[in-house]
Amino acid sequence: AIDVRGLRKAFGELEVLRGIDFSVGRGEVVCVIGPSGSGKSTLLRCVNLLEEPSAGRVTVAGTEVTDPDVDIDRVRRRIGMVFQSFNLFPHLTALENLTIAQRRVLRRDRAEAERIGRANLERVGLGDKATAYPAQLSGGQQQRVAIARALSMDPELMLFDEPTSALDPELVGDVLAVMRGLARDGMTMLVVTHEMSFAREVADRVVFMDGGVIVEQGTPEQVVGAPRHERTRTFLARVL
Ligand code: ATP
Ligand code: MG
Repeated sequence: AIDVRGLRKAFGELEVLRGIDFSVGRGEVVCVIGPSGSGKSTLLRCVNLLEEPSAGRVTVAGTEVTDPDVDIDRVRRRIGMVFQSFNLFPHLTALENLTIAQRRVLRRDRAEAERIGRANLERVGLGDKATAYPAQLSGGQQQRVAIARALSMDPELMLFDEPTSALDPELVGDVLAVMRGLARDGMTMLVVTHEMSFAREVADRVVFMDGGVIVEQGTPEQVVGAPRHERTRTFLARVL
């Protein structure tokens, strides 16, 4: 579903991604781990072209997004994105946060958008919060609304950038449980996370990045359980 070849990204003199190759198959979950500044967010942002790669090819759901002629809005519509900050509209209820893009972007009528929105609030365990405003929800609940919002757009794949790292520790579990459920349902997911237990249990593959390169990738047993590289070992010793 995602294929990245020879991806490079520089900001001026600073080379943040220095030749990245990896892929995520349909229905696979790939977790990206690595120290701060290693380029994880930049990698995700290059996949949905929030950043323009300096070199290389990125293919998403069969469309080469790095092709200059591509209709990037069409491709982006098929990618669900969940960030550390939830970016909900504060003046809209949970349900309204889910329906607005469905109506504007997918042109669904109100009744259908609300039906799909309610179903996705149920899916993330917030069926009773449709009329709540973001300020009335906990951080974990707001993040689950953000996941439900992404799901309401029928994405082919989901990108997560540290979706739990802004949350109080006791709220992390509910969000990870929702993500586990998505994985079980066969969603294709690329997840930047520091949650090693999630990576171990849920990921089909783990990618360890440092200094803009992939140092190693493999199954969680390989990369987290028996890392081959010193840099991976040093990183894991700090986060585990
Ligand atoms: P963290 O774990 O802290 O989120 P990360 O692995 O996601 O780190 P990135 O956010 O991808 O790291 O940043 C990688 C490097 O690129 C950093 O040195 C950062 O300062 C730099 N960088 C990111 N975005 C920009 C930008 N728009 N302009 C200039 N430099 C940038
Ligand atoms: Mg980041």
